[in-house]
Amino acid sequence: MRKLEDKALIVVERLSETYPEAKCELDFGNTFQLLVATMLSAQSTDKKVNEITSELFKQYKTPEDFISMTQAELEEKIKKIGLYRNKAKNILEMCRILLTKFNGEVPGNMDDLISLPGVGRKTANVVLSNGFGIPAIAVDTHVFRVSNRIGLANSKSVDETENQLMSVVPRDKWSLAHHLLIWHGRRICEARKPKCSICPIAFTCDYFNRENQ
Ligand code: SF4
Repeated sequence: MRKLEDKALIVVERLSETYPEAKCELDFGNTFQLLVATMLSAQSTDKKVNEITSELFKQYKTPEDFISMTQAELEEKIKKIGLYRNKAKNILEMCRILLTKFNGEVPGNMDDLISLPGVGRKTANVVLSNGFGIPAIAVDTHVFRVSNRIGLANSKSVDETENQLMSVVPRDKWSLAHHLLIWHGRRICEARKPKCSICPIAFTCDYFNRENQ
């Protein structure tokens, strides 16, 4: 395990140098908007979500604002995003639950967050990390792919990947590692064609070493 912990530190260090500006790429003005934006981002791009929310959040800033819309009205506003019907339904239901159970506030713990409709561990971790400053590693498609290629994780399941990453990355670097792995997955370690020839961590990557034996 020591070896993997060392490797995790090297990966975080090198990727920090490569992406010094790595951060959440969703735009939001408060924790509630972060939750909505993260729910919208499933199977979509952050860029597309930001296009939609730049208008949406001007008018709708709180759960009360959102439930003033019918589902059809919200669907109309977010229809350029995949799965928009389901997302509109979940977001409105989530807003009603925030108002009835949580005083209109987004809860700052995993159990309450994942009790909300349409909120899984990934979304909850994004909110805990970026909204509350609580160390968390949200495993999205990029974090899953990149960490398993590098060999920081070795699993076919996102939950297990999250646990493996949490055990090898120091807790105070969880949120940073999450952003770095996403940025690396979007810019260099792309799904179809990873750009290994320009990758700053190729020397320690299991996938690269396997392919170049
Ligand atoms: S070497 Fe290739 S597979 Fe490994 S992290 Fe870099 S881009 Fe991804």
